[in-house]
Amino acid sequence: MNRITSDGITKVKAVFIYCLYKGEGLQVEALALERKAEMNRELKERIKVLKKERNAIILAHYYQRDEIQEVADFRGDSFLLAQKAAQTDADVIVFCGVHFMGESAKILAPDKKVIIPDERAGCPMADMVNVDGLRKLKAQHPNAKVVTYINSSAEIKAETDICCTSSNAVKVIQSLDAEEIIWVPDKNLGHYVQQHTDKKMIIWEGYCNTHDMLTVKDVVEMRAKYPNAEFVVHPECRPEVVEMGDFVGSTTAILEYCRDSACKEFIVGTEDGTGYQLRVDSPDKEFHFATKFLVCPNMKVNNLKKLAKALETMKPEIYVPQDVADRARLSLERMLQVK
Ligand code: SF4
Repeated sequence: MNRITSDGITKVKAVFIYCLYKGEGLQVEALALERKAEMNRELKERIKVLKKERNAIILAHYYQRDEIQEVADFRGDSFLLAQKAAQTDADVIVFCGVHFMGESAKILAPDKKVIIPDERAGCPMADMVNVDGLRKLKAQHPNAKVVTYINSSAEIKAETDICCTSSNAVKVIQSLDAEEIIWVPDKNLGHYVQQHTDKKMIIWEGYCNTHDMLTVKDVVEMRAKYPNAEFVVHPECRPEVVEMGDFVGSTTAILEYCRDSACKEFIVGTEDGTGYQLRVDSPDKEFHFATKFLVCPNMKVNNLKKLAKALETMKPEIYVPQDVADRARLSLERMLQVK
């Protein structure tokens, strides 16, 4: 005969209560998701109306939240978006990215109003180099030319001979008539570029907190888990991680490579916002981010609510002092002339 002991009854009760709570918990979770989706729908509608009223264009970096990329007129990396800003005939540019990107847009489109959803969206790597430190280095190496990664502030660009991106850095360096290069601010990208040029590079010790998070151990584990996947990696990652890449390239280069490759599965070594464009381009392929830490918190401070508010209030606005903008523009324009 089956007997339920007092202990058995307690167990049955516990299981019943657990199921009840779990069921309710799931219901609450589903309701919250539904509410969020509804709020996002309302915000998207509001953004659409405001965008038209303001004659605004929304530019979103590939590292933004999915819902922001969805409402953007253009998605791109910092360079592509700066170019778009320079070409647009809209009156207002809403730049969904981090502060230095909004500055580049303002530098290249000085007559436009440039606003960003949240002025706290900074970039720790851009902040790792300062004007005084760079001037000191220039004084120590008077024959060197300063090459600055586009991921930098307007003040640093103004102290620069020429800017570059992660895809044209080698070409930019080769185009210079100097044998010595001061490279700012990313040491990991600098190390990668140094392998492709004989010029002497004096490399600043900055780095991207997000890309620098990825380790060899992470990649080894992911490769064991997904043996058929190719590992694609951004050169802002640590040199020993970059060395493991089946493909190394800028954000845009990674997106294009994954889209065009015959391979169906990838381990991705760059910021997780790129998942949006990767899935748009190749819905039939699988993408595994190499670690859950590949998330830039600065990029993620922007959201739909703040974007709608920025369009409503036309704030926060990006300002770059005229003399800084003029000098910074020269360093960007020199880069554009490199073929
Ligand atoms: S991903 Fe890295 S370089 Fe880009 S904004 Fe974030 S911290 Fe800066």
